[in-house]
Amino acid sequence: MAGGAFEAIRAQTVSASAVDVTGGCQCGAVRFRVVGRMNAHGAMLCHCRMCQRAHGAPAVAWASFPPEALQVTQGTPTRYRSSPPAERHFCATCGTPLFFIWTEPPRYTDIALACLDDPATIAPTVQIWTDSKTPWLEITTPAATRPHGLTSD
Ligand SMILES: [Zn+2]
Ligand SMILES: [Zn+2]
Repeated sequence: MAGGAFEAIRAQTVSASAVDVTGGCQCGAVRFRVVGRMNAHGAMLCHCRMCQRAHGAPAVAWASFPPEALQVTQGTPTRYRSSPPAERHFCATCGTPLFFIWTEPPRYTDIALACLDDPATIAPTVQIWTDSKTPWLEITTPAATRPHGLTSD
């Protein structure tokens, strides 16, 4: 699917309403608030190998926001540069992975949906990097899939 057609589908499925949600790590040392509208590519379930390893999980649900939407309200996450343009932030006390932040240049901040106080608030609308999906994992929603990331077919 061409990128333009994909974005058109996303525009129909991603809510345009702003959110105001809170979350935190397992131990409570890091707390955060997210205020604003999701980016056009919205919320996604990622099957990439870096997310799998970073979270110790077969897949990771993210919601993507502009950088200014995230406010860390308590504690200071530890940063790990997992690839040249991006950092992953996690709680150094309990190890909970919290954020994926594209910093070079600043573009977007992804929030780990499972760390929201109410994880049901935002639902992924697409599965990405399904070419590295764990074979025994059966996930039927969302039905939209991308074998690679959001920028390539
Ligand atoms: Zn913690
Ligand atoms: Zn990923």
